Amino acid sequence: MSGLYIHIPFCKQACSYCDFYFVTRQQNKQDFVDELIREIHAKKDSVFTEEPVRSIYFGGGTPSLLTAEQVNAILDAIRDVFDTDLKEITLEMNPDDVSREYLSGLKSAGINRASMGIQSFNPELLKFMNRAHTSEEAMKCLEILEASEFKVFTVDVIYGNPGQSLEILEQDLDTILEFNPPHISAYSLTIEPQTRLGKQVKLGRITPPEDDTVSDHFDLVVDKLAAAGIQQYEVSNYAKPGSEAVHNSNYWSHENYLGLGPGAHSFWWNEDQASATRWKNRSNLNAYLNGDWKEQSEREELNLADLAEERLMLGLRTKKGLEKKKLKSTYHFEFNDRQLRYLQKLEENGRAETGERIHLTKEGLKIADSILLDLITMT
Ligand code: SF4
Repeated sequence: MSGLYIHIPFCKQACSYCDFYFVTRQQNKQDFVDELIREIHAKKDSVFTEEPVRSIYFGGGTPSLLTAEQVNAILDAIRDVFDTDLKEITLEMNPDDVSREYLSGLKSAGINRASMGIQSFNPELLKFMNRAHTSEEAMKCLEILEASEFKVFTVDVIYGNPGQSLEILEQDLDTILEFNPPHISAYSLTIEPQTRLGKQVKLGRITPPEDDTVSDHFDLVVDKLAAAGIQQYEVSNYAKPGSEAVHNSNYWSHENYLGLGPGAHSFWWNEDQASATRWKNRSNLNAYLNGDWKEQSEREELNLADLAEERLMLGLRTKKGLEKKKLKSTYHFEFNDRQLRYLQKLEENGRAETGERIHLTKEGLKIADSILLDLITMT
């Protein structure tokens, strides 16, 4: 079973923290859709069509800048080329693009999971992040969603923003919870050097929040959502039981996925099942429109040791964690003595539970990145 990721590289404006690939000019949208359909057709009879597609994810950029007809045409091309056993077809949307008619058009096209990029309802924070939508639009899109046929949806929220108080975060969470979401992604704001926010931090115009503040935000998110029956199942992802994301869960468990569109990454196990290849399409819309998707860029061959390290990084960010037996059978990986002592220490400090299955606790997930760095540098 594999996943398909479709990158839609258009945005109305640049959010201050974003380092995804997108362009803000909109005139090539139909040319892009035509080229994407050519890229999909070019996969016919390839190794990528040998297993059924279980999930499709429209990400970006802003997929909701496409019309429902364009989304339908892309899905038709996918159905023509791939064998499908689809559990989930997600499309990321921004609040300012959502209307009743649009949601109904997407539903008819086959989208069955809406991912709503709310981030916050607070007007100052939305302005600070340079989001294209207003607080009113954020509220309105959830009302439209609630009245629509989409019963499966997820809402994105950001915490750890400079100037974001616990009260503002709590109000955002309260408002989202009024809509009874089955799934929430809550991301801690990361400051990437090449973004507008990164440059302002470098110039000393903005001070990032203290670690303790971010840690308080994290606690509030985990506890508040848990009280509403929405459990953390990955560092940044929360779901009611049974509503965990299929597509992202497949990434974390190293299933094959194929990325289409400029800047999209792919990962595919090689025939020997003892190595895999990762590559991406170049992040350049003009080149993409000239057919450069035919070339794989940044192609990387991964051996079992690379894959084991990656699986550790991905798996230990999930609540489910990793099975030692599986690590051994699939990756020929066993923890060394140093790592076992380190894991033991984490367990004594309440940050991990180790046994046949190793997983981080809430306290461990809070500092997952530093734990993972420690662990992999001990190999
Ligand atoms: S809408 Fe999404 S992809 Fe576009 S700039 Fe904002 S965060 Fe980045």
